[in-house]
Amino acid sequence: MIDIDGSRGEGGGQILRTSLALSMLTGKPFAMRNVRANRAKPGLRRQHAAAVNAAARLCNGSVHGANVDSRYLEFTPNAITGGELAIDIGSVGSTTLVVQTLAVPAIASHVELRATIRGGTHNPMAPPFEFLERIYIPQLQAMGADLSIALDEHGFVGSDRAGALGQLTLTIGAGGALRPVELLDAGELVGTTATAVLSRLPTHIAERELAVVRERIPEPLACEVREIRGGAAANLLLLDLQREHARELVTGYGEKGLRAEVVAERACREAAAWLAAGVPVGEHLADQLLLPMAVAGGGRFRCAPLSLHATTNIDTIRLFLDVPIRVDPDGDAILVTVG
Ligand code: ATP
Repeated sequence: MIDIDGSRGEGGGQILRTSLALSMLTGKPFAMRNVRANRAKPGLRRQHAAAVNAAARLCNGSVHGANVDSRYLEFTPNAITGGELAIDIGSVGSTTLVVQTLAVPAIASHVELRATIRGGTHNPMAPPFEFLERIYIPQLQAMGADLSIALDEHGFVGSDRAGALGQLTLTIGAGGALRPVELLDAGELVGTTATAVLSRLPTHIAERELAVVRERIPEPLACEVREIRGGAAANLLLLDLQREHARELVTGYGEKGLRAEVVAERACREAAAWLAAGVPVGEHLADQLLLPMAVAGGGRFRCAPLSLHATTNIDTIRLFLDVPIRVDPDGDAILVTVG
């Protein structure tokens, strides 16, 4: 059994998700101590327990310690079979992070999988549904994967009532593969779409956010307001930045007590940083690309300096796979070479 200290590096949920994915793929069992030790509420939250149980179902594995609050876990995989999985997180914990756990092992094992996942679809500190749809999944498709994702119902965080849960559906075809790709140049800015999403909140919030965006983001820029009757009050601002060979989605999350202008200013700052860096891969995509590239056995990408999430992910990958991962300075950017 591979012994993993869950408090290393970032010390959060990413170590667990990457370990689950690679354990399923390599057939190597693992034991993890200090699960999410660096978080305010350490141990498994519902979202993580759901990911562990979903992984166990995907590969007919066995697991000890998958209960909420558990800080010690043992996971023993078996063969990945795919099929139909109905996963209910039971809270607005992130459904997209459960996707992060299941997608790569299912693609690389050439199984068919249809997973419906109930929970949060738009959570701070996790990819919103649109990030998977527009940024992460297109990269997996470019690597040869056959997968798609659908938003069945919005699930906004802060709305922990049963009726406010959302759902997404992940569909993976058996014919896909993961092959090395290179993401080195971003190209010129082609355009930006700013979408202010509102659920059960007044329209002026969206209008104030978009007014800030119009001042800060260079043309060409398209702005839209999307009103959704979700189960809870929520606001997010999505900045979809498109360059010739790259795309990034920056998300600002509205919070009670936080002015709409501040939400928009923060998102615009993050967007400006990505545009100024001139790299094709943003901070979040960088940590999320490492696993599929390592499983593909190769790939290269340019990004801004790596986050602690990304370096922790590299360390976790090295516990399971023998694939070289190099991180080299490249001017003001970083070049990551896998394989
Ligand atoms: P914890 O509660 O332990 O932090 P977690 O399960 O929420 O755990 P993290 O370890 O923080 O997970 O990992 C969060 C993941 O979500 C990372 O892959 C990160 O890149 C991604 N992520 C966070 N915010 C965004 C965002 N705005 N857009 C895209 N991806 C995001």
